[in-house]
Amino acid sequence: MNSERTREPDSAKEVVFSANGKISELPQVTELPVAERMGVTFARACQLAKLKIHTIGDAFFYTPSRYEDRRDIRQIGMLKKGESALVLGEVIGVKIKRFRSSRKFVCEVLIKDESGELYCQWWNQTWPADVFRRADKAILFGKVTRGGAKIQFVVQEYEILRDDRDIRLSTGRIVPVYPLTEGMTQRWLRGFISGVLKRFLQDLPEGEKYDEKWGFPGRREAIEQLHYPSLPGNEERARQRLAMDELLEMQLEIQKRRQRLRQLAHGITCPGDNHLIKPFLRELPFTLTQGQMEVLREIRADFNSGIPMRRLLQGDVGSGKTVTAACCALMLIEGDYNVVLMAPTEVLASQHARTFRKWFDPLGVPVRLWTGRIKQEEDLLSLATETHHTGKSGIVIGTHALIENTFQIDRLGLVIIDEQHKFGVEQRERLLKKGSRPHLLVMTATPIPRTLGLTVYGELDTSCIRQMPQGRGTVRTFLRNRDKSEEIWNFAKSQLEKGRQIYVIYPLIDESSKPDIRAVEKEFLSISARIAPYKAGLLHGRMKGEEKDYIMSQFAGNQVQVLVSTSVVEVGVDVPNATVMIIENAECFGLAQLHQLRGRIGRGKENSYCILLMGIDKEESWRRLKILEESRDGFRIAEEDLKQRGPGDFLGERQHGAPMFRFANLIYDYNLIQEARKLALAKVNSTGIFNGENEGIGYE
Ligand code: ADP
Ligand code: MG
Repeated sequence: MNSERTREPDSAKEVVFSANGKISELPQVTELPVAERMGVTFARACQLAKLKIHTIGDAFFYTPSRYEDRRDIRQIGMLKKGESALVLGEVIGVKIKRFRSSRKFVCEVLIKDESGELYCQWWNQTWPADVFRRADKAILFGKVTRGGAKIQFVVQEYEILRDDRDIRLSTGRIVPVYPLTEGMTQRWLRGFISGVLKRFLQDLPEGEKYDEKWGFPGRREAIEQLHYPSLPGNEERARQRLAMDELLEMQLEIQKRRQRLRQLAHGITCPGDNHLIKPFLRELPFTLTQGQMEVLREIRADFNSGIPMRRLLQGDVGSGKTVTAACCALMLIEGDYNVVLMAPTEVLASQHARTFRKWFDPLGVPVRLWTGRIKQEEDLLSLATETHHTGKSGIVIGTHALIENTFQIDRLGLVIIDEQHKFGVEQRERLLKKGSRPHLLVMTATPIPRTLGLTVYGELDTSCIRQMPQGRGTVRTFLRNRDKSEEIWNFAKSQLEKGRQIYVIYPLIDESSKPDIRAVEKEFLSISARIAPYKAGLLHGRMKGEEKDYIMSQFAGNQVQVLVSTSVVEVGVDVPNATVMIIENAECFGLAQLHQLRGRIGRGKENSYCILLMGIDKEESWRRLKILEESRDGFRIAEEDLKQRGPGDFLGERQHGAPMFRFANLIYDYNLIQEARKLALAKVNSTGIFNGENEGIGYE
């Protein structure tokens, strides 16, 4: 250790009093530029940059892709024929031997240690002759092919070591194997990283001490064990410890943001005298389920808490989130506030508008539609203007056109976002800014896996409708090969004859370069012919809004019996008379998406049938989709989907702010995430800056 080096400070914000009395803040050791501090050449610095090793922290946390257990180095003299072994020795000769009888040749590198000599062989290869030099030290792993006086060895892995330090780092222990870049060797990177650890690790603050039950190493030890685990398995303990640090930091951030919202904002309180909700519930053709009622109680409490609500409403497809949202809207409208509901597609927005008009017209509550297409129309001036004159508050339902500046609204009390995973956090925030800290209710029909509920959605309180409304028929799901389509269509026709309707879903709009995957436009004609005299309609995302609306209303009104569509019907479409869904090339979809699609049927009292047709009969896709036959539990399917496809599908393409972790794993680290959250809450609470309790987050 270089004693002349000035010590770096311990923490990011450590305050240093310099000689002239000025106060300065020095960066944390992990933030220092590593190439500069270690004095490597420019070429090396470039290579490090390619590996994204810029700072000392990057080097600390540079994770090996695997490890080699090199603890058991064998004496050459003791090797027996047939065994696999690791040896360490000095190169004393290199030659290529050719055999006259055959075309074969072998490169032999002769190695010696104190106990004997070993002929290391590479058959029909010459390159080792250029790699090994006399007097090099080398460690080799391979299989002994001949014992006795001339021991031979076929090499599987080797590494050349230049000096004693190399030997110390690369032998006799569990050794890291790092991802490399061109021009860099394991030997060099190992030396470099261990140099960084040796010089700077002691300057890293030990960080949080976690409960002993976890058995975590300290932070510095974790980093050492990450590179050189002293026992197999220690690297995983180390990873967990470092993951915990990341998760705790994230949870603290979340709790602080929540706290800020509580302290800064005055939530809109709505006394709500029930003069709208009462008649609304009375006229509804069904009674709300227990689950819906519970959620409404939670939300009512939020509305009266004086703090802006930030709530995620989860509920499986068809659990009745829309009517729950309508009740919430009425609570605010009763208090003379306006409400905005944003949906991801025009199809869905206009369906919601139809539903809400049916519900709200009798109450005299105005419902307005605001989409990119119709916002120009004259009778759809902003609700603000209109209600200004009538003095009536109401609801505006629209697509992301609501976010644009052309849409303005007075007395905004509640923002509802349906199918929120289709929107990004920024879009959500922009909509909220149209009012003065209105309440926020986001709804999702793709149940959020537990880990994401506590992280990505960690700022939101969560409500969950677990129960389905009574009186629904069953939905059965069948996984079938495409060659069964004749039978399937016969069955479908029998359902048409009973007066039912059918969805047929394709993954693509038009013919693509992939001949195995069917496209909706092409298949539409053959389906129309097949189902005559019943009528088919075509729906896909590239159609114009009016066309889409028209087809949807034709299907909803049963003028069209078969809807041939892409996954645009995935979200929220509600046609209770549809009882069959045939999904072509089901293997092209994710589990959660298929579950969503399937949620379009089983909405009436008749039994429903979902048929997943496999276009490409791969055993793997078959296994993957099997769970859909077995389970209708959206939460279970979501967990499975997260394992299969990672978090991307849940975050949505436009979701920003997805957490990037080096060590924490959003799929498997639920226990750690939960613990980190508890700890963060305890910390924030104990410092007295945050005093709200935190119930209803996630589901256990
Ligand atoms: P999702 O939660 O998937 O958005 P919807 O809100 O579209 O589900 O509701 C699905 C269907 O269930 C709708 O037709 C709705 O009117 C109906 N529904 C909602 N709540 C109940 C209930 N308590 N009893 C009976 N039907 C209900
Ligand atoms: Mg819905």
